[in-house]
Amino acid sequence: MRILIVEDEPLIARALREGLEAEGYAVDVSDRGDDGLWRATEHAYDAIVLDVMLPGMNGYVVCRELREKGINTPIMMLTAKDGDYDQAEGLDTGADDYMTKPFSLVVLLARLRALLRRGPAERPATLTAGDLSLDPADRVCRRGDDEIELTPREFSLLRYLMHRAGEPVSKQDLIEHVWAGDELDASVVQVYVGYLRRKIDEPYGRAAIETIRGIGYRLNASGG
Ligand code: CA
Repeated sequence: MRILIVEDEPLIARALREGLEAEGYAVDVSDRGDDGLWRATEHAYDAIVLDVMLPGMNGYVVCRELREKGINTPIMMLTAKDGDYDQAEGLDTGADDYMTKPFSLVVLLARLRALLRRGPAERPATLTAGDLSLDPADRVCRRGDDEIELTPREFSLLRYLMHRAGEPVSKQDLIEHVWAGDELDASVVQVYVGYLRRKIDEPYGRAAIETIRGIGYRLNASGG
C-alpha cells in the first residue's frame, strides 16, 4: 500500500509519515499542491492525505482536478479548524473523508484504514439542470441530446456553477474554485461566462446562466 501525503507543514508531514510507515505503508510526501497533483497523476497510490491550504494549488483544486482526470484514489482532506474553507465543500470536490486540524494521529490512521478497505470512490455523479447535463467522469456536456464541446476551463466553470445550481455564486468564489485562486481580474470570469453562454444557452434560446448584479452568477436549476 502506497500513500501520498500532500502537506506543507513539516511537523505534521513528518508525524504522518512516521505514523504510516510504522503501520507498514510506503509513503511519499509532497509539500506543494501542484506537485502533489502531478505525483498523484503519475503514480498509482492507494490513498492520498491532502491538506487544503497549500502553496502552488489548494487542496480542493487538487482533489477536483484528480477526479476530473478520472483518478478515484481515496482522498482524506485535512481542513483547518474555523478556516475559511468548510468540510462540506471538501467533500463536494470529491474527497472521501476529512479530518479537522489539530487531529489525533490514531483516529486519522483508523479512518484511513477504513478508506483503504472501501477502495476507490464511485464515479462522480452526472450533474443536471433541466435538459443541461454534465458528466464529470466522461467530461461530456449535453443540452438535450446535443453534445457540447467545452474547453477544460469552461467545463470546470460550468461544473462549479451546476454544483451550486440555484445559488448565487460570486466572481471571487469562481476565481478561487475554477482558477485555483490565481491573481485574476474579475473581468476574466465575465469573459468565460460569455464563452459558456454562447455554447450552452444562445444556440438554444435559453438563459441558464443568470447574472446577479453586484454579486456574480446563478445557474438556473431548471436549465434556463
Ligand atoms: Ca497547509
